[in-house]
Amino acid sequence: MDLHAVLPDLLPLVTSWAALQEVQGLATGAPLHAALLLVARHVGVVHPWLIRLALVEALPLPDDPLLRAAAQHLGVLGPDTHALTLGYAVFVRAGCATGRLVAHECRHVAQYEQAGGVAAFFAVYLAQLVQCGYDQAPLERDACAHEWHGAALEGDGHQKVEAAETKCL
Ligand SMILES: [Zn+2]
Repeated sequence: MDLHAVLPDLLPLVTSWAALQEVQGLATGAPLHAALLLVARHVGVVHPWLIRLALVEALPLPDDPLLRAAAQHLGVLGPDTHALTLGYAVFVRAGCATGRLVAHECRHVAQYEQAGGVAAFFAVYLAQLVQCGYDQAPLERDACAHEWHGAALEGDGHQKVEAAETKCL
């Protein structure tokens, strides 16, 4: 699959899918509790009270065959992906929510805010995934660099998120 060639076709598909999933995540998720609101604020979210955290058994997957194939090709939304942020909706697989992970996702929320919405975010993010790959995409590097803001919420008994082993979009 030549992702560079299909990028213009992918963008409207991913944008409409993401917008729909965001609505569902906002409807089913819960507001952040006080400590996580503070984390969201610290990683740069302007309106942290709008975030909804949806703990799910499985992350939402696109039905569209082109989107599915692209996600597979990019190595995202697979079994090792633990979280996904779409606008103000943060989806986290049950049992995977750690302070660092939520801080990472909240940083993505801040990126959506800075971009000006789902469509504008994906115009940049998708191009980065295609050009740099998940690990080196600047928006992912930026989110990883903010994970420490959530570290204080993790006690010794909590599981840690190892960046090398997990993915969180
Ligand atoms: Zn990420």
